[in-house]
Amino acid sequence: MGKTDVSHLPYESSFVPEILTEDHKIKFACHPGVSCFNACCKQADVMLAPYDVIRLKQKLELTSEQFLKDYTVPWEMDGDGVIGVKLKTNEDKHCLLMTEKGCSVYKDRPAACRYYPFGLMGVKHTEAKADEQNYFRIEEEHCKGHEQENFLPDTKEITLGEYRKTQGVEEFDKFNLDWIRLMLKKKSAGPAVGTPSVESLQVLFMATYDLDRFKRFVFSPNFQSVYLLDKDFLDTIQKDDLALLEFGYRFLRQVLFGEKTIDLKADAVAKRAEERKGYWKARHDAEMEYANLNDPRYDPEVMGDEVMGDNKLTEQAEAAKKKSK
Ligand code: SF4
Ligand code: SF4
Repeated sequence: MGKTDVSHLPYESSFVPEILTEDHKIKFACHPGVSCFNACCKQADVMLAPYDVIRLKQKLELTSEQFLKDYTVPWEMDGDGVIGVKLKTNEDKHCLLMTEKGCSVYKDRPAACRYYPFGLMGVKHTEAKADEQNYFRIEEEHCKGHEQENFLPDTKEITLGEYRKTQGVEEFDKFNLDWIRLMLKKKSAGPAVGTPSVESLQVLFMATYDLDRFKRFVFSPNFQSVYLLDKDFLDTIQKDDLALLEFGYRFLRQVLFGEKTIDLKADAVAKRAEERKGYWKARHDAEMEYANLNDPRYDPEVMGDEVMGDNKLTEQAEAAKKKSK
C-alpha cells in the first residue's frame, strides 16, 4: 500500500488516495443505531455510474430522461468535457432519496453508497491478463462507523472483499466495469483520440446514462440504415436495459476507438457518410456557437436522433466496402 497518483480513477481529482486491495482488513459497521445515522446522506456527494441509473429509474418507475432531470445534476468528469451525473441534493445538501428512517431506495442504492466509506478506484491496465480492482478509504469526520468501540465492541475485522459482499456491490461492479474501462481508456488515449466533439460527448452520455433515449436512437431509421442488427437482438435490447447498456458500451468502443464489433451496411454507410459531410460541418458550427450559451452535452433536448458517432463512419465505411467485395 502507498500513496499514488490518481490515474486509476475514471475521472479527474486532486484527491490522492491510499490504494487498498480486497484482502485489506477493516473494522467498520453501520446500522440504524449509530450516532451518525444518515449523516453521510445529509452531505451527499454521490457520483452515479450507468448501472446505478438503471436500478434507480426502475425502482422509481421513471424513464431515464425523467430520472436524470428530477434526481441528478451534471458534473464535468475530465478536462475534455465528459459529463457524468451526481445525485441531486436539497439546499441543505441532503440526498433527495433520504428519509428520516434512512434510504428510501436502499435495495437499489447506488454503488458509491454501498461502498462508502470506501470507493472503487478502477481496474488494472488493459494489457494485464485479469482485472485487478483497487479501493480507497474515504475518511470523513461525520462517519463514526470506524469507531467500533463506541457502539459495536464485538465487531470483527473483515476484509474489504467480504465487506463488498455484505453490501451487494458485485452486481453493480459487473455492469459498471466496462464503463470504467471505457473512461480510463479514453483518459489514457488522450491526444490519440483527440478532444471529443460535442456530438461524441452527447453519444457518450446518451449510451451510458440516458438509455431510454439511446433506445430510441438505436431504433431510429438513421441508425437502422447504417448498422446491421438482427431482429432477435433488437427484440432483446428493446426489452432488456442491461442488454441495451452492454450494446451501448460496444457502440461507444466502436465509434470512439474503432473497435469494430457491430456490422455496418456497406452501401448505406458509404452513401450516408457522403451525404452528411456538409450537414456535420453546418451542425458543428451551429453547436459550437450554442455551446457558448448552454451546455448541450447534458441537455437531453439537444440530443437529436441524428447523433451517429460519424467521426469513425467514413473509415468504417471503407472497411465495410472492402469486406463486401
Ligand atoms: S441514495 Fe440512499 S444511501 Fe445514497 S445518499 Fe441517497 S439516501 Fe443515502
Ligand atoms: S456516516 Fe458512516 S456510520 Fe454513519 S450512517 Fe453514514 S456510513 Fe453509517
